[in-house]
Amino acid sequence: MNTISAHASNDTRASDPERTARDLGVDPRLFLGGRRQDGSAGQTIVVENPATGAALTEVASATPEDALAALDAADAVQESWAATAPRERGEILRRAYQILTDRSGELARIITLEMGKSLDESRGEVAYGADYLRWFSEEAVRISGEWKVNAAGTARVLTMRQPVGPSLLITPWNAPLAMPARKIGPAVAAGCTMILKPAAQTPLTALFLAEALAEAGLPEGVLSVLPTSDAGGLTDALFADDRLRKVSFTGSTEVGRMLLRKSADHVLRTSMELGGNAPFIVCSDADVDAAVDGAMLAKIRNNGEACVAANRFLVHADVAEEFSAKFADRMRTLRTGDGSEPGVQVGLLIDAAQRDKVAGLVADAIAQGGRLVTGGSSPEGTGYFFAPTVLTDVPANARINSEEIFGPVAPIRVFHDDDEAIRIANDTEFGLVAYLYTQDVSRAVRLSERLQTGMVGLNRGLVSDPAAPFGGVKQSGMGREGGSTGIDEYLETKYVALAV
Ligand code: NAP
Repeated sequence: MNTISAHASNDTRASDPERTARDLGVDPRLFLGGRRQDGSAGQTIVVENPATGAALTEVASATPEDALAALDAADAVQESWAATAPRERGEILRRAYQILTDRSGELARIITLEMGKSLDESRGEVAYGADYLRWFSEEAVRISGEWKVNAAGTARVLTMRQPVGPSLLITPWNAPLAMPARKIGPAVAAGCTMILKPAAQTPLTALFLAEALAEAGLPEGVLSVLPTSDAGGLTDALFADDRLRKVSFTGSTEVGRMLLRKSADHVLRTSMELGGNAPFIVCSDADVDAAVDGAMLAKIRNNGEACVAANRFLVHADVAEEFSAKFADRMRTLRTGDGSEPGVQVGLLIDAAQRDKVAGLVADAIAQGGRLVTGGSSPEGTGYFFAPTVLTDVPANARINSEEIFGPVAPIRVFHDDDEAIRIANDTEFGLVAYLYTQDVSRAVRLSERLQTGMVGLNRGLVSDPAAPFGGVKQSGMGREGGSTGIDEYLETKYVALAV
């Protein structure tokens, strides 16, 4: 078998990879239409543990031919799957939620081992990701249509909602359970079949999820999970086949743009959850202690490797000194290390490239005149650490203001009035989320309305919630996941004109 590393820095073989994967409770073969099989080219992908930089295990790598076989399976059952009782689809999701919840400890360990964040973070992700399955188990039975009299009174307007059809779901490594669950939940609820292509760096969690869904009763053919070392080749084969009807992507804006262009050829339905550059605004009337608590959540959750991570801290001059000092004190006391060790609060970044990118952004901010308050370097160790960092006086032209950091680094800038805060906050191609701390209700409303983002965290450093519509504007994407509209991404509206 040929082995391909998903991590740029590592090309060693894992010792007894099959045994390691099975010890972790994961079948390392492809989940192709519900059947387990090796990739048709016999290749594998090395999965690395970011804490050690060493190979953890290997999983099968799917080829374009495997992808087309998965599409055959999806297409063959699409009609019968769409015709299943909504309650049945909902109960499959509910049972899968329960399986993930019951096996939370096991699954959290897998997430930490392949992705690097702390066990606490991983347990939080299991709860959050599983909750999307529970949420959509409840939405499956609420798909509704409409009955209307037309304006002239001469006809009746009947609308119904039908599944879009076979869908390609592409997900990133930073939330290897929650991102697939946020797509599979609504797709199952709506009656779509699907092919999930997880990130090559974190395939174990996705394969575990597939097993849980199969155990919960998901029929064969409805779902395939295809890790691959050839993302472009595999997805191109699917884009070229007009049986594919939808692509739902979470990942970088750069790849999202490219997938949108490819989607145009067969006019696919698209949902795009892309990059972010969230401003975290602290007004002069904010409760500074509450703002510091929120800042810790918005910055440190998921090691800072989150699309919703606060990227730019904008603080009013009146409270800048107090906020910066208190925030830096909290950042300084965080315990970093191997995420699988008890008590570690900030684990490893995903790989050497990400660590070096974070280090480069910090170095540039300092070179442009920014002042380092705490952190700023990679502590000694073999893993991909970066110390929690606070920078103040970061000038506007520093790269860190326009690029997604994806690490535990907080650059602070000072503003003097609301207009200036809004101008800086909106000065980005991204528009996913903004955080706003103020105790003045009118200001909260005015500023929330002026922020060019899909979500606003108002006096709250956390917006992710299965009950809420998650998504961005501008180049942060299109479509919403979760909430009462999340299922719409997987449904088409059909209208029947009735003569009377
Ligand atoms: P990425 O490089 O865009 O990769 C995301 C997924 O796309 C992976 O499965 C990747 O596969 C696949 N991919 C890469 N190139 C492809 C190609 N040419 N054709 C088809 N698929 C391709 O992003 P990432 O570095 O994994 O994730 C970080 C990004 O995700 C950040 O920008 C973050 O903001 C964003 N994100 C957004 C949200 C949101 O909801 N808005 C949530 C989480 C993350 P490989 O693994 O094989 O490269």
